[in-house]
Amino acid sequence: MVISWQQKAVEHTVTKYSHAQQSASVVTRRQNGHEMNTHVVKIANRECSCDKWNQFGVPFSHAQKVCGAYNISAASMVKDYYDLMAYNNTYSKHFEPVQSEDYWDDPIFQLVHDPTIRTSTSWSKSNNTHS
Ligand SMILES: [Zn+2]
Repeated sequence: MVISWQQKAVEHTVTKYSHAQQSASVVTRRQNGHEMNTHVVKIANRECSCDKWNQFGVPFSHAQKVCGAYNISAASMVKDYYDLMAYNNTYSKHFEPVQSEDYWDDPIFQLVHDPTIRTSTSWSKSNNTHS
């Protein structure tokens, strides 16, 4: 995953306002000084008002700034489904890939298979002939 927020020429100003919720508002301002946005981040809830944290599970720029203000590792704030345990659990089940035909059990029923149907060059013609 590429997190490119650091490359953006955006200035973040963090104003803490609730230590209990580890929440803060982040004002972002582009270098031209025109675009200005205010976002509310609640670290304890793993939420940002821009909704990116909720949608992608990764704390992007606003949340990272607030984590920094509270001396919290932003990496520890990534949603649980990205952590190693979740990754391991995903692949902890036993997979049994299908082997080649040599390993297949003999069927307990009679196989009805007419190889001429697929190998015939006049497949559609013969298939439509029911007499
Ligand atoms: Zn945000």
